[in-house]
Amino acid sequence: MDRSYEAKLKYSRVMLKVSGEALEGAQGFGIDPSVLQTIASEVAAAASEGVQIAIVVGGGNFFRGVDRWDGLDRATADYVGMLATVMNAICLQSALEALGVQTRVQTAIEMQEIAEPYIRRRAMRHLEHGRVVIFGAGTGNPFFTTDTAAALRAAEIGADAFFKATKVDGVYDSDPVKNPAAKLHRQLSYREVQDRGLHVMDETAITLCKENDIPVVVFNLTKQGNVLRAILGDPEIGTSIGVSVDGAQQQHEQQHEQQQHSLDYEAEFSS
Ligand code: UDP
Repeated sequence: MDRSYEAKLKYSRVMLKVSGEALEGAQGFGIDPSVLQTIASEVAAAASEGVQIAIVVGGGNFFRGVDRWDGLDRATADYVGMLATVMNAICLQSALEALGVQTRVQTAIEMQEIAEPYIRRRAMRHLEHGRVVIFGAGTGNPFFTTDTAAALRAAEIGADAFFKATKVDGVYDSDPVKNPAAKLHRQLSYREVQDRGLHVMDETAITLCKENDIPVVVFNLTKQGNVLRAILGDPEIGTSIGVSVDGAQQQHEQQHEQQQHSLDYEAEFSS
């Protein structure tokens, strides 16, 4: 692996979002220990380079609120989903600690026997001390996703970048599983993701990243070495969103927004 990009670390504090689906590996449910170990060893390697790492884990490998059955209301189902994320969080913690990495799990729903409650300033202090902080239970609120939780926590702790680990190489112009000719986007602006309805993460999450100028890197977790490469700032990896938005593009986005505002204004007063 070309590790020349490591000469100077690109990011000092990062947010890594790992979906529950990624943890299930090929088995289709629960946690595949080998996947967990691979992620843990790459996070450990990145942490040993001095990058401060926060992680949000999903819960889809156990339960998603949308998969509820008749008689189970959405909010309750979402709480079950949030509890699922805590199972993943403490398993990932264990895998990291087995490698000698200091970690803390903080949950958005208090369960002090197994984890600290989420306290922003304490989380930041842990990061400064080189501990990997894993956030469990999403935002603590139903009707949200762990992508949104990760974007929210990234903004709160002042992360330099948001890494979204997926099972594909990045963001494509169509579904690469159904269309072998699908084209991989290397770089996108936040607006392109929003306007073109590209399925990177839900709207709330991408908007939070955009509003807080947090670049998003979507990459393939299943390729060995990728977690480490991404966190260490390898520019060749995956799809970068909002990363190289240069002055011209930013201006274009601002103009677009101003135009939209005046159109909205006109629409409001001509109706
Ligand atoms: N969830 C929630 N609020 C949050 C985060 C998650 O209600 O802030 C619930 C929701 O039901 C979701 C489930 O937890 O479906 C698991 O999270 P998610 O689907 O984001 O996991 P992933 O797809 O990343 O595995």
